[in-house]
Amino acid sequence: MERTADSKTSLRIAIQKSGRLTDKTIELLKGIGLRFDDYKRNLMVKCRNFDVELLLIRDDDIPEYVQDGVCDLGFVGANVRAETGADVSVLRGLDYGVCRLSLAAHKDGPIQTLEDFEGKTIATSYPNLTQQFLEKHNIEADLVTISGAVEIAPRLEVADAICDLVSTGNTLKANGLEELEVILESETQLIQTNKKLSPGKKKLIEKFLLRMDSHQQAERSRYIMMNAPKASVPEIKEIIPSLNSPTVMPLADEEMVAIHTVIPIDQFWIVMERLKKEGATGIVILPIESMIL
Ligand code: ATP
Ligand code: MG
Repeated sequence: MERTADSKTSLRIAIQKSGRLTDKTIELLKGIGLRFDDYKRNLMVKCRNFDVELLLIRDDDIPEYVQDGVCDLGFVGANVRAETGADVSVLRGLDYGVCRLSLAAHKDGPIQTLEDFEGKTIATSYPNLTQQFLEKHNIEADLVTISGAVEIAPRLEVADAICDLVSTGNTLKANGLEELEVILESETQLIQTNKKLSPGKKKLIEKFLLRMDSHQQAERSRYIMMNAPKASVPEIKEIIPSLNSPTVMPLADEEMVAIHTVIPIDQFWIVMERLKKEGATGIVILPIESMIL
């Protein structure tokens, strides 16, 4: 692919054009302040306010494009990256597109344990990862590589079992299959090329990562405000897993204070119950746009 003089300095990021990762990735990019026009109808879109262009392609192609330096960064599932074996660096793991690659077979069929896969036929879109796993466990099986609708292969008698992506397990269940062995836990990853980057691009990546980390941190946190008895402040300080010391402000009622701080979202309910016990009232929780630590 030819690169224009203009794109030499722009950071080029590969994202999935249309699929399970697209909306979340676009949401993340918009969340860190990137503005771009209609990405649905174009293969390439330029950001209006950041030196970035997005390349919208099939997820299977992302690791190679990044490996070859056609794109500097890419958002792709760990499953696809690992299957392609592309020479790229993983910069961040992101908490969407979470799934696992698993071996599955008929619920009440002859395959019930890992050893039962010996000599069987397995349909998969992930022949490399499946083969590596089987070899590691000294199991010989025949692989049939198919690119989609893997879960119906046993019913069509194309294969005895499958190795496919699972998230809820509903698709497996609907096809009378049972998940027997997880071979890879996956999530979306931000990957970077291992090709040499210009100092300008390195700076852009640093800026991009700072924005992304601040956004992720903010998404995992909430701003919390409450009123509490002055006498409870030491106990409340103990309860709040605050980043820094909380802000404590006097109120008209001299026995009471207002406390403002930031808490991690995963501790929200535990913290809340304990605060109430210490006499906190009027607790207000607010989302945070961004956080620079
Ligand atoms: P493309 O047309 O871009 O090749 P695709 O059909 O290969 O798309 P999608 O089904 O959109 O891919 O899935 C993209 C990624 O979403 C997967 O590679 C995986 O990382 C993640 N994912 C999360 N949950 C699931 C799931 N239950 N099934 C499939 N993929 C999932
Ligand atoms: Mg694909």
